[in-house]
Amino acid sequence: MIKDNYGRAVSYLRLSITDRCNLNCFYCRPCRNTRFIPHNEILTYEDMFYLLEVVSRMDVQKVRLTGGEPFVRRDILYFLNRLKNSFPELDIRLTTNATLIAGKIRALKDIGIKGLNISLDTLDREKYQRITGRDFLNNVLTSIDRCLEVGIRVKINVVALKGVNDHELEDFVNMALSRPLDVRFIEFMPIGQKTLWQKEHFWSSDEILQSAQKITELKPVADKDMNHGPARIYSLPQGQGRIGVISPLSNHFCLTCNRFRITADGRLRTCLFSDKDYRLLPLIRSPRINNDQLKKVLERAGLKKPMGHEIMGRNNKDRKSICERVMSSIGG
Ligand code: SF4
Repeated sequence: MIKDNYGRAVSYLRLSITDRCNLNCFYCRPCRNTRFIPHNEILTYEDMFYLLEVVSRMDVQKVRLTGGEPFVRRDILYFLNRLKNSFPELDIRLTTNATLIAGKIRALKDIGIKGLNISLDTLDREKYQRITGRDFLNNVLTSIDRCLEVGIRVKINVVALKGVNDHELEDFVNMALSRPLDVRFIEFMPIGQKTLWQKEHFWSSDEILQSAQKITELKPVADKDMNHGPARIYSLPQGQGRIGVISPLSNHFCLTCNRFRITADGRLRTCLFSDKDYRLLPLIRSPRINNDQLKKVLERAGLKKPMGHEIMGRNNKDRKSICERVMSSIGG
């Protein structure tokens, strides 16, 4: 098992399978000429199988595939199918912008993908185009309903942006009232060298909950009934879905953090806020390194897993961003 010096056990891996994305969200890729990782430095599917072979024997139970946008990666359905067959005990999830899943939803269900986290920051078509640079909103909404039809659980991740989507709170609450899905508002984090994070854009979880309570009744869902990670979730007695908030800035959850991240170029990041990463790719591809040696590297790195809120406290004092690397190349 991977455990850190604070006694936190790592049971959840977020694996970025590409840093490419077909959208250009202004807060994620602030500058248009983002340098992508060269193809030969990106983890191959075989590299990922080897990695998962190792971590699945170290008590990692859940793996979330992220990007960039994972569905821009070729043959992803083949990869997912092999993953499910090779690691039936692993809980495999995906985070996607849902613009490329339309013809794949039935296949995802058949492969055994139980849940999708879908990034969606607005329900307004024009604004969607302004935020992402593409006119794909209707396509995303259709795919969300199709996922629910086939029984794939859907969690909507909304980056909470004051002055951008705060006046759409009611629309998002109505979406959760009318559909059996979760809408979670994630506090905007100053991640990445050129982040556009501004204090005036910051919309805190408490503000969101106070406003949502004026729209409909919110009933806290007890922790024991959830394996929802850092989200605080509320059921809606008048509706089918739930509302949630994720508050890394105003109410951090570092004390119970159970996650590792591996970037698409095979760098282990033990904390989202820490730029200290470990190059695993040369080790994965080296014939001289075996499973046990790779396990040792992961264990040693795990021991030094930091408390992110401490990094935030330190870095936020003298610079704008908490860390240098942009979110699209970390995998969220
Ligand atoms: S900031 Fe770091 S330690 Fe805190 S919850 Fe996120 S990944 Fe975990």
